[in-house]
Amino acid sequence: MAIWSVRWSVKQYINFGKNVKIKSTTQILDIAVLPGDGIGPEVMGAALELLNAVHDVCGGPELRCTTYDAGAQFYVKSGVALPEATLAACERSQAMLFGAMGWPDIRNSDGTEIMPQLELRMMFHLYAGVRPIRWFPGLPQVLSDERARGIDFVLIREQTEGLFYARGRGVVENDSVAYDTMQITRAGTARVSEFAFRLAERRKERRKAAELASLVTCVDKANVFTSMAFFRKVFDEVAARHPEIASDHSLVDAMAFSMIKKPWVLDVMVMENMYGDILSDMGAGLIGGLGMAPSGDIGDEHGLFQPVHGTAPDIAGQGKANPCAMFLSAAMMLDWLADRYGELQLEVGARVIGKAVEIALSSGEAVPMEYGGNAGTAELTAAVTGALAEARRRIGS
Ligand code: ATP
Repeated sequence: MAIWSVRWSVKQYINFGKNVKIKSTTQILDIAVLPGDGIGPEVMGAALELLNAVHDVCGGPELRCTTYDAGAQFYVKSGVALPEATLAACERSQAMLFGAMGWPDIRNSDGTEIMPQLELRMMFHLYAGVRPIRWFPGLPQVLSDERARGIDFVLIREQTEGLFYARGRGVVENDSVAYDTMQITRAGTARVSEFAFRLAERRKERRKAAELASLVTCVDKANVFTSMAFFRKVFDEVAARHPEIASDHSLVDAMAFSMIKKPWVLDVMVMENMYGDILSDMGAGLIGGLGMAPSGDIGDEHGLFQPVHGTAPDIAGQGKANPCAMFLSAAMMLDWLADRYGELQLEVGARVIGKAVEIALSSGEAVPMEYGGNAGTAELTAAVTGALAEARRRIGS
């Protein structure tokens, strides 16, 4: 099982989802590739090269990766950030692989940035933003405490409501007062909480191996906001249906403290959209930087996989981006497809990518510029691709 797995069994998935498209094996899986802006196309090019090499090493079904237009630069050329043809291709595809989108100078009329990723989350109901944060040999040890080598938690960000519900709905009255309204629904909170408990169930064995109990933590601000007290109430109702998994609560400010003070005890955390946006960048900081943090945006019918980082305008076009977050996001995609379509070789491919990243980074020969080394996108891609065969050998079949 992939170390930071977001997997659940196909059977569970069928029970859970509506209109689930399960195909037979020996199939071609269509992947809609959206490289986007800034470093998005750079890390995406690297990931496609890696996926090709993984197929050579691990076999399995063909992934037919087709690139589509979308993003801020495309908006400048065409007046549309997310064209209909791209949306239709995403709808048809078995998964979406996404680089990064947005650009500081390219704005909507209200001053907000062009961010098609937010539209995609809403349109395809990608309600669970799954963000694993795991330390492994080769990553810088940001915290001096030795126990920080055991950092291994998953942050789940609700992605279809919360404070981001306000996007496009905010008001400024008489140029003197502005409002953005948070939305928390029972259905939205319940489904993301259920997802968190299922994921904790899947992580039980690795928690046991680390001599830790499984734990789902509700991160909120229930002491101040009515919406957050409601979020906690619905979470508690879901927790009551999962007595085999321990649960607790943390105020978001206290969680920011815990993530620095003792992150090695954390397991699965679930929270509203904005808190997840902030804490996932902090989580990336614990393992060396945004170039190491992958994510999967999961819904009942679709999955989109993208690094946590944005377009990084400060380093775009210079070949300096660390592609590992994109690699690990591609691995999450393989893992998800493996469960969904019953293609076990894809699960092997996911594990091989994770191991190859670990081998490449721990060899010390390719140290990302992000944390002080000389290796840019090309060098890291060569190092990880070059480690695939050894990773496959270590993992077995
Ligand atoms: P967004 O708001 O679009 O999510 P962000 O505010 O998280 O973006 P990023 O674009 O991710 O900002 O960049 C934040 C910082 O992290 C920048 O200094 C950037 O250069 C660095 N960074 C982000 N991704 C990478 C990467 N893959 N490799 C190296 N550095 C990166």
